[in-house]
Amino acid sequence: MITGKTNCVGILGYPVGHSLSPVMHNAAFEKNQMDYVYIPLPTPSTELSVAVSALKAWNFRGANVTIPHKVAVMEYLDEIAEDARMIGAVNTITIRDGRAIGSNTDGIGFIASLRKAGAAPEGGKAVLLGAGGAARAVVWGLLQNGIENITILVRNIEKGSAFAERFASHGDIKVYAFDDAEAKKALRTCTLLVNTTPLGMAPKLDAMPNVDWADVAEGAVVYDLIYTPLMTRFLREAQEHGHQVINGKDMLIEQGAESFFRWTGIEPHRPSMEEAFDSFWESRQKND
Ligand code: NAP
Repeated sequence: MITGKTNCVGILGYPVGHSLSPVMHNAAFEKNQMDYVYIPLPTPSTELSVAVSALKAWNFRGANVTIPHKVAVMEYLDEIAEDARMIGAVNTITIRDGRAIGSNTDGIGFIASLRKAGAAPEGGKAVLLGAGGAARAVVWGLLQNGIENITILVRNIEKGSAFAERFASHGDIKVYAFDDAEAKKALRTCTLLVNTTPLGMAPKLDAMPNVDWADVAEGAVVYDLIYTPLMTRFLREAQEHGHQVINGKDMLIEQGAESFFRWTGIEPHRPSMEEAFDSFWESRQKND
């Protein structure tokens, strides 16, 4: 029951009607028997500064931040944690002593999902396809967890070089075009191959990044950040070629679990979050 003492968290975005976060977090709060509620907070860009002030005024414990505010929100926060600074985006705000602190849990979520799948990253060699926002979180997670050998394959070398420059003081990140001979070399020796592009995401199910499976090291774990669908064409082909595959569902759950922990100091009941994820998508698919 929501009472005058209930703790509030929420999600700032626009729109937020599609977001899974309210159902995942509220399921965990209920299972954990915590007096918390997670509220959708649809926030047009012109109201973002007011919304951050309101979180403080209303004594929220914090909030998630989603599209289109992950970068823009940074200028309204009192402090930016190192993970959000390195990734260049905030997905979690924690309110502490009246101060709004921005951080990013996507990198931790990615690594937690790898470990859950039994694919510990330490000492490996990663190849990432794409160099957008999610790729920055993946790279930061990998650098923090013992993978320093990272190759990024991109369609736009200029953007890719700026990406590598951002992390240059933390590791040796190489950037090549998809069709570069060096790209093939990196694929032949990688232990982890990650699709961070949106290619293959619903509704464009036939799309996939340009990878020749003959080039990919036997035994490499193949990961797709996409979670709609759970089995993309990229993962299906990887599985057919004998690779262990991981989809983006656990990263989504784990980044949420880390936000939950940052607000409350308590680990959420993950199976409830997962059940909420599954039933949300089931009902979405029926209604689409
Ligand atoms: P983004 O910032 O737009 O980055 C997308 C990247 O993919 C860019 O580097 C882009 O290249 C590249 N790209 C797009 N189309 C391409 C194509 N046809 N060929 C080659 N490269 C292409 O997007 P994002 O926020 O990083 O998200 C990427 C994906 O990750 C989405 O599917 C998203 O749903 C998923 N994601 C999942 C989680 C999770 O928790 N599982 C979290 C975050 C994101 P250019 O820079 O040249 O445009």
